[in-house]
Amino acid sequence: MIFRKLGRTPFSVSVLGFGAATLGNEYGVLSDKQGEKALHLAIDQGINLVDTSPYYGRSLSEARLGKYLKGKRHQVVLATKTGRYDVDVFDYSAARIRRSLQESLRRLRTDYLDILQLHDIEFVPRTILEQEAIPQLLRLREEGHVRCIGITGYPLPYLTDLAAKYPIDIALTYCHYNLMNTRLTDRLLPLAKDTGIGVINASPLHMGILTPEGPPEWHMAPADILETGRRVVQYCQEVGYSLPRLALQFALSEPRISSTLVGMRSTSQVADNLTAIDTPLPDDLLAAVQEIIRPVKNRSWPMGLSENQ
Ligand code: NAD
Repeated sequence: MIFRKLGRTPFSVSVLGFGAATLGNEYGVLSDKQGEKALHLAIDQGINLVDTSPYYGRSLSEARLGKYLKGKRHQVVLATKTGRYDVDVFDYSAARIRRSLQESLRRLRTDYLDILQLHDIEFVPRTILEQEAIPQLLRLREEGHVRCIGITGYPLPYLTDLAAKYPIDIALTYCHYNLMNTRLTDRLLPLAKDTGIGVINASPLHMGILTPEGPPEWHMAPADILETGRRVVQYCQEVGYSLPRLALQFALSEPRISSTLVGMRSTSQVADNLTAIDTPLPDDLLAAVQEIIRPVKNRSWPMGLSENQ
């Protein structure tokens, strides 16, 4: 396993992290046995960053992690989130954030949390974020309830502005550094170099688009991006190369990203993804795939409140 410093935090994290949205059945129903085996293989192979949220499976992901991490809690850097509880349920008030942390600790069956992040900041008015949520997060860190704090979201300009303005430790964004989109390099990675903020890259498979199975129904990408994804899947099947592996090789090749979180639903997906770490990126195949993607490369879609894009 390769580890990288997570910005100025005390953590060294594995370049591949375990994204636990899958444990909340966000990508289809997963049995306890499958989920537990996938997580345990990942940890046994050196993956030490585990990311979840009360939102994933409406607390199922956290509850499962609490069970699966029995005896292994000390082996992982455990990150959860706060503020988002359902598709349309957000509560960024200071009181709810404090209570949410206690609920997460209980479900995760632990008495300490390594990382607490505001989940999907673009969905709440900026005043609430700046007057309630961020100050509360700073207090929780100061009081020692969590070691590090962060913000997560999709629209990069908004995320980057806030990451530059406040003394937070981590910024996490998704679908912004992979074969289809590399906008993370525009401002967030340069900011990280200047400030020491740790950058976590989520959804290197573009939330399922870059997999043979394709994206879940709830995926919000426009039709031409989905169609381009299907063409890439087909191309990789024709040439006999695992598209998820190619996508991960690509994501892992950016050294300024501390860790890339991928959702995994089986031991075979964990094993396949781990091979990406020490297999050289096939340049010819990458060039051919990039050519298919070119018409939609770096296209994002609107997410959250219109004033927070
Ligand atoms: P992803 O791009 O990692 O895709 C996950 C899908 O790919 C799942 O269906 C999974 O089973 C499949 N997959 C993984 N490896 C595979 C393989 N080798 N072969 C075939 N299929 C494979 O998307 P994601 O799970 O949404 O993102 C990863 C993690 O990032 C999440 O679990 C979550 O922890 C984090 N995340 C955070 C935010 C946020 O905080 N706002 C948003 C998105 C993701």
